[in-house]
Amino acid sequence: MNLKKLQAYLQKSNLDVAYLSNPISIAYFTGYEMEPHERIFALLVFKDADPFLFTPALNVEEAKASAWEGDVYGYLDDEDPWQLIADHINKRTKETDHWAIEKDFLQVSRYEALHEVFPGSNFTTDLSQFISHLRLFKTSKEIEALKKAGEEADFAFQIGFNAIKSGVTERYIAGEIENQLKLQKGVMHTSFETIVQAGINAANPHLGPTMTKIKPNELVLFDLGTMHDGYASDSSRTVAYGEPTSKQREIYEIDREAQQAAIEAAKPGITASELDHVARKIIVDAGYGDYFIHRLGHGIGKDVHEFPSIMAGNDLVIQEGMCFSIEPGIYIPNVAGVRIEDCGVVTGDGFQPFTHTDKTLNVLPIRD
Ligand code: MN
Repeated sequence: MNLKKLQAYLQKSNLDVAYLSNPISIAYFTGYEMEPHERIFALLVFKDADPFLFTPALNVEEAKASAWEGDVYGYLDDEDPWQLIADHINKRTKETDHWAIEKDFLQVSRYEALHEVFPGSNFTTDLSQFISHLRLFKTSKEIEALKKAGEEADFAFQIGFNAIKSGVTERYIAGEIENQLKLQKGVMHTSFETIVQAGINAANPHLGPTMTKIKPNELVLFDLGTMHDGYASDSSRTVAYGEPTSKQREIYEIDREAQQAAIEAAKPGITASELDHVARKIIVDAGYGDYFIHRLGHGIGKDVHEFPSIMAGNDLVIQEGMCFSIEPGIYIPNVAGVRIEDCGVVTGDGFQPFTHTDKTLNVLPIRD
């Protein structure tokens, strides 16, 4: 269905060949998920001919057994993949003048190799925008996978909260989460490195889990997600280990209020910029504006970060079917950090989160 849209776009734009090389784009159009590492992996789509997949020889059988129903051609490590691609194309069509490529992804050396086998062709058209626009609107099947990934994230929080005790390291808790996701849920990949941050580490938003040991009376921030059928989850919760200080509770409640307000405001018709402002205004008015140092949210789908970007200056009008995160944070250096994040889908009149772990400040008992 999406492939048909791509073919229609090629016809409308008078483009002969589309060369897709981002494995995520290829999976999006074919249903075949594969990471080729340094080898060549491409989807060739034509204005007037049948598309084909080109993969390393060792993936051909797997690709044929996948959801992809078109032709699959392979190459051995000692063959010239570019000449093979050219031969397959020339057998299909004589029209190869105008190409569309993924400029955000295609390496210069590979672009040059394509140019060498099609010296007279023009490669100026970029497909990236067309693809990211298509991917903005999720189908019900995609939303189903995003919900399943969200359920796994909710499970992961429970594992993480239960693993907190005095003296264990952030990295131990992150390891426990990832291990139990594999053991109990059969999760193959997390969508990014699980983040567990205790105390002042949480004021440093992208610091990975360290060997810092958990101590009583600090906030612990979790940011985690899984991949389910090729779709990502991404969610954050901040909990208190033992009684929080009044400052810790104050910034938690402000952040929660900001997140809740944005969830309630997210619906068709509001712009991304306005939505960011709904949450930001609450944090600014409470005096913590300088400590909310990132956009409100990002799109989610096959990539854990994709379009749309929910931020000031983005006048994109939010529409039904868009999926993104709402994740205000307050990070006070050397004091504490809080972030609360849910991803969800815009419905006809609101926003339906994919994660449901309770957001009332969870005060965990001190365990030794
Ligand atoms: Mn996120």
